[in-house]
Amino acid sequence: MAKKQFKAESKKLMDMMINSIYTHKDIFLRELISNASDALDKLYYHSLSENTSGLSRDDYKINLSIDKENRTLTISDNGCGMSEKELETNLGTIAKSGSHDFKSAINPEEKESSNVEIIGQFGVGFYSAFMVSDKVTVISRVYGSDEAFKWESSGVDGYTVSPCEKASAGTTITLKIKENTEEEDYDKYLNQYTLQEIVKKYSDYIRYPIMLDMESTSLKEGTEDEYETVIEPTQLNSMVPIWRKNKNEITKEEYNEFYKGKFYDFEDPLHTVHSKTEGQISYDALLYIPSHAPFDFYSKEFEKGLSLYCNGVLIMEKCAELLPDHFSFVKGLVDCADLTLNISRETLQHDHILKVIAKNLEKKIKSELEKLLKNNREAYEKFFAAFGVQLKFGIYNSYGINKDTLKDLVLFHSSSENKPVSLKEYVSRMSEEQKTIYYACGETTAKIDLLPQADAVKSKGFEILYCTDDVDEFAIQMLREYDSKTFTNICADSLDLDSEDEKEETKKENEDSKEMLDFMKEALGDKVSSVAFTSKLSNHAVCLTSEGMLSLEMEKVLSAMPNASGVKAKAILEINKNHAIAQKLKDLFESDKEKLKDYATLLYCQGCLIAGKSIDDPAELSRLICDLM
Ligand code: ADP
Repeated sequence: MAKKQFKAESKKLMDMMINSIYTHKDIFLRELISNASDALDKLYYHSLSENTSGLSRDDYKINLSIDKENRTLTISDNGCGMSEKELETNLGTIAKSGSHDFKSAINPEEKESSNVEIIGQFGVGFYSAFMVSDKVTVISRVYGSDEAFKWESSGVDGYTVSPCEKASAGTTITLKIKENTEEEDYDKYLNQYTLQEIVKKYSDYIRYPIMLDMESTSLKEGTEDEYETVIEPTQLNSMVPIWRKNKNEITKEEYNEFYKGKFYDFEDPLHTVHSKTEGQISYDALLYIPSHAPFDFYSKEFEKGLSLYCNGVLIMEKCAELLPDHFSFVKGLVDCADLTLNISRETLQHDHILKVIAKNLEKKIKSELEKLLKNNREAYEKFFAAFGVQLKFGIYNSYGINKDTLKDLVLFHSSSENKPVSLKEYVSRMSEEQKTIYYACGETTAKIDLLPQADAVKSKGFEILYCTDDVDEFAIQMLREYDSKTFTNICADSLDLDSEDEKEETKKENEDSKEMLDFMKEALGDKVSSVAFTSKLSNHAVCLTSEGMLSLEMEKVLSAMPNASGVKAKAILEINKNHAIAQKLKDLFESDKEKLKDYATLLYCQGCLIAGKSIDDPAELSRLICDLM
């Protein structure tokens, strides 16, 4: 029979599995049992909605069996089964919805050492069988069909599919277990106690009995010293879903193992919330905050949602309605007995019960995050580094409708504390004299530190919040105020640090030099909306500020967007009235107006460079500098 080749990415994955150095080879069993359980779910669900299956609930089973002589381990189920075509598509390629992402994550130079992460991230399921076996045989018959097919593969050289006999519907997977090597003991997968242990650890909650014929030796009936070996079908799992157990019966490790297995993560979660709600609507929720963002989290491919169960039966893998966008990073599940089983995606959106649960969960997640911030700063900062941007988007999105929910959860780097701080903490440190919350925007904290205005604000003893994410300033503007304190961008023209006397003096200076300043503005054209003297710069000669809502930083962010339509901040060139350059400009206005034009351009370019804004005509700048030299 002609061998068929695996699709390229499956082949790569297969290769990785066969040569895996993955330390948790045991998980192959979890993966195969999960598939069997899903197949039973599918049949069970189908039978409920169509009233067709002749099986009763108790007939659904997963059977394990060991054949030591032939070195085989068999996992079988009487679930929905796979047709010839399904065997092809499901096992000949990576069938997971993540296959596209998988393709982009494995590149040809992929190093062995990163396999662990890839395996962890993608939950490669069926293929993990090749970590422990030389040959895998799958015999399957679809429920309701009388044909059966056999899929067989010894690894990378391909697979075959052929018709065969099978007495009843379902799937039987036979693994030819590898021979022991110096480093690796494979015999253990033919040992009943090891299998029992692995099932207990990873698949205890599976809702169908996982059976294994276990051998034990016992006293022969009616004798006193004669022993006999009895083989008894033994159920290995307790079948109680972890979320239905009492909290005090579950160890942290169990919570973590469940998380990693179910949500394909290779790291423990950062935080676990297990809540049982009784009342008009009763439900159990098991929620996890991952310790790192999934690789596709900030992309369009990412799908938020919680798994939805009704009385322990999975209804939907990812129910998006249960999570608001700003908490889309939460993984987990909800089990509610009050739902109808055949709820569809369409009716979901209008389901009252779901809405109530979603509202409660949002509150719960918020309060858990607040607690984490209060009680475990380190963990919270780790969380925020991974998902903070999502919270800030949450403040900005939908015209700020969620800003009150989120405002106490966001952190910004502080100039005085040199670490991320909350707005509450900032405000608690404000002195009587300080009227507004200062913030500054830039690529990095180091670059913001170099801004002339940052110097000025810090020297007054005021703390500055550093905004280094594109979304930051948009979020801050959406907040408008916190605890009745407004926000001030230190790069705005409205930055006001002067005393009344100083202000009066600057105002006079500007009036006296109005003609000259207007002349400079004319020379710069529409690059700036005005040129003015300022007293807020201590040593620096110039700075560029902006007027109104749209800051220079926002201009940068917006014009980097795909269909930017030439948004422009209203820039103001501010010149230090106490700097020697001020007098020089005044002199030039009297003696050499052409030169003053060049000076205006030079100062403007300096302002741009300091603000991190690109210069329209660098060649002109170069020419002007050379002329001066
Ligand atoms: P995943 O389970 O993550 O989708 P797998 O590689 O483990 O990926 O399995 C691929 C597909 O093969 C499954 O989605 C399922 O459709 C099918 N499959 C695997 N095992 C079984 C089984 N025991 N019974 C029926 N279908 C199965």
